[in-house]
Amino acid sequence: MRVDVLTLFPEAFVGPLDVSILRRARDAGLLELRLHDIRAHATDRHRTVDDYPFGGGQGMVMRVDVLDAALDAVRALAAEAGMVVYLSPQGERLNDTIVRELAEMPRLILVCGRYEGVDERFVAHCVDRQISIGDYVLSGGELPAMVLIDAVARHIPGALGDEQSAADESFAGGLLEHPQYTRPAEYRGWKVPEVLLSGHHGNVDRWKREQRLARTAERRPDLLRALEGDEGGGEQNGL
Ligand code: SAM
Repeated sequence: MRVDVLTLFPEAFVGPLDVSILRRARDAGLLELRLHDIRAHATDRHRTVDDYPFGGGQGMVMRVDVLDAALDAVRALAAEAGMVVYLSPQGERLNDTIVRELAEMPRLILVCGRYEGVDERFVAHCVDRQISIGDYVLSGGELPAMVLIDAVARHIPGALGDEQSAADESFAGGLLEHPQYTRPAEYRGWKVPEVLLSGHHGNVDRWKREQRLARTAERRPDLLRALEGDEGGGEQNGL
């Protein structure tokens, strides 16, 4: 998968995307990440990318002409047209279903806003999908883009090592994951559940399933309600 990011701060991406699973996915050629400075497409000598909002109001708005030129230039860098995603607090809230949909795309082009956001004409004419990472406002789209890239990369076949699997994790199948334990089996009198030490695979599997259901009911009853609403979903997950 190729991901192009349009941002005013390419340097913000150095670090978080250079470690662990993302680093390995990039090194293995599973994830090709390209960062592009929107300011390189400004045309005046001050390299202006924003301007005052028409109609008045606080702050500045990113210009449609600069963004459109940046997007055109980036699009031309690869044969795949790519899906253009604008990270926005006004977009659909990111969840596991959307992450899996995006992971199917051969190319994503992520646009990070700053200031008061981008000129609405850019959204209307150039953006395929708007995505929010939650109901709060951040200073820019860079952190949301990194969240999206990390979540999506985990679903690229081969990105996770053999020891990990996105299929067993929280939200896969609509439930939270069961609790996890490792050695030592006892620490300060805090014991690991006996069943996990029993070596009885059937009992362990049953315990994990019960824990997933109990945990989801306690922490995220909305997920269980959604599963029960899905035709066949409840049955599939042992509800
Ligand atoms: N004035 C905008 C509003 O009220 O909807 C908020 C602009 S915000 C300060 C600047 C940029 O940060 C946005 O253009 C967007 O790219 C990004 N951003 C902020 N919060 C976000 C969120 N929850 N999810 C995704 N992107 C976000």
